Amino acid sequence: MTKVYCDKCNDVFGSREKFDRHVESVHGESGCGVCIIDAALSKIAGFFKK
Ligand SMILES: [Zn+2]
Repeated sequence: MTKVYCDKCNDVFGSREKFDRHVESVHGESGCGVCIIDAALSKIAGFFKK
């Protein structure tokens, strides 16, 4: 199960579909690879968020 995290909004979405919709409507772009991490990587990402 993959969750998608939007780094710009500090928000988490339950599916890639919801995230894509969010990015298109809120940020006006699609497929922001930088924003996308899955749940398994969220702990690792914590190290970069100090
Ligand atoms: Zn966002």
